[in-house]
Amino acid sequence: MDEIQTLYPEAYRICQQFAIDQNRMEEIIHRMTREMTMGLAKDTHPRATMKCFVTYVQDLPTGRERGNYLALDLGGTNFRVLLVNLESESTVHIDGQTYGISKSVMEGPGIKLFDFIAQCLSDFCKDHKLESANLPLGFTFSFPCKQVGIDNGTLVAWTKGFKSEGVVNKNVVELLRDAIARRGDLKVKVVAILNDTTGTLMSCAFHKPNCKIGMIVGTGSNACYVEKTSNVEMLPGYQTSQKPYMIINCEWGAFGDNGVLDFIRTRYDIEVDNFSINPKKQVYEKCISGMYMGELVRNIIVELMDKDVLFKGVKSKGLHERGKFETRFITEIESDEPGRFRNAAMVMDSLGIRTSNEKDLMCLRYICETVSTRSAKLAACGLVCLIRKMNVKDLSVGIDGSVYRFHPHYHRLLMENMNLLLNGTVRYELVLSEDGSGRGAALIAAVCARD
Ligand code: BGC
Ligand code: MG
Repeated sequence: MDEIQTLYPEAYRICQQFAIDQNRMEEIIHRMTREMTMGLAKDTHPRATMKCFVTYVQDLPTGRERGNYLALDLGGTNFRVLLVNLESESTVHIDGQTYGISKSVMEGPGIKLFDFIAQCLSDFCKDHKLESANLPLGFTFSFPCKQVGIDNGTLVAWTKGFKSEGVVNKNVVELLRDAIARRGDLKVKVVAILNDTTGTLMSCAFHKPNCKIGMIVGTGSNACYVEKTSNVEMLPGYQTSQKPYMIINCEWGAFGDNGVLDFIRTRYDIEVDNFSINPKKQVYEKCISGMYMGELVRNIIVELMDKDVLFKGVKSKGLHERGKFETRFITEIESDEPGRFRNAAMVMDSLGIRTSNEKDLMCLRYICETVSTRSAKLAACGLVCLIRKMNVKDLSVGIDGSVYRFHPHYHRLLMENMNLLLNGTVRYELVLSEDGSGRGAALIAAVCARD
């Protein structure tokens, strides 16, 4: 690091802007707590940025759920149809198919998107001879939704790369059921809509009864947690509810949309936001998640190249193109052994920058580390905020998403920063949650079928 400061003072200066010390982390937690409180309370909910949506999931799995369920997973880079067989507590079979979503489907009319989903579901069911099985289906739809029941969710806004028209403000379960009915070749029961964070929490809770948070750090970022029903003012009859707990979908990606995170944002964040599909929205998510990390790194590199500080004399048009530096490159570069730059050289080569200048590659890695460290720090703040809000002293956190799953140091960075903030007061475990969007959806469908 000292070496960076001496050799690349310009890069060092830029990266310093991404540093967040413990005081600032505490300030972020403080502000997030305030935003969450606003989301939960009835009179402040309409103007809250973090909506803290009611999920209508009030029971965690017992580990005794059994049977066959279908699950749809929409919200990341791919769309998936899954058949989940809960055979025993230790044996769950998942059979799935991934379908790429074209830009024209992602950004076209909503009816086209839902016809595409129904088509994939139909193809999948025919392949598995399930057209008339009438299986319960859980729909993992990973966007902010206002729910009024377990099988009723209205899309509030698209996030990540989606902007399909005519879906915002509609009940997406109805859109799905209509699309299935239009085909008329399929019998399924759409019993639940859920967020991927909820699926992740459920999937983790199947094995760990003390799981109280589900978090995603993937294309997007978000978390859900277990709240006391008596605090959930947005639930009609919350004061007299029979069930003590409710999973709350925080939609923390929108934290900062009212400016409360401006004190930590850099001009690179603002640049990335300006050119995004949803400017001024999902501010916290844009500092954390995979859809934006690569772009932050790219903006820094390009500035340093233009100033002739990095990769001197090498010209790369490629890197000047938006989106060219993918977040998986960060993962690859940081996976190099200390003092080695094999992946880094390969990544740059694939971008048209052929170099063996190890100092430059060291600086590149430092930039990647800067962006991923800040991401993990912010996510750690979010987790600590939820843990303090619940006031629990012992819990598991189920986590999924490509960044958490594949980045070589993300898990460690999360823990280091949580340890710093929690200072030994809480026993916690961060658990990779296997396929929450599939298994978790099946568990919710099973829990629904139980009632
Ligand atoms: C969405 C959330 C989702 C998260 C992770 C965000 O963009 O708003 O609903 O949970 O991405 O997929
Ligand atoms: Mg996903």
